[in-house]
Amino acid sequence: MSSDCKWPGCGNVASRFGWACATHWAALPVKIRLSLGHSHRPGVEPDAYRLRAEATARDWIIRERNKAAKAGKSPSGGKPFV
Ligand SMILES: [Zn+2]
Repeated sequence: MSSDCKWPGCGNVASRFGWACATHWAALPVKIRLSLGHSHRPGVEPDAYRLRAEATARDWIIRERNKAAKAGKSPSGGKPFV
């Protein structure tokens, strides 16, 4: 069973804990990766902990994108903010 990468605008298959493709997983901060990893329960409906971890990740992506847009450059050394 596979799902799509949850990174906005990405259509790749999610290979890391059912959330992101390898590229976008690598772009996430360790803290967010850990909470997504810990809350990953394959084959069951997402619980409140999982939903909160996913919301935190999405908020982080949006914040970083806004920062990058303001600065006019990528904040993460060329990592993709597609
Ligand atoms: Zn992706």
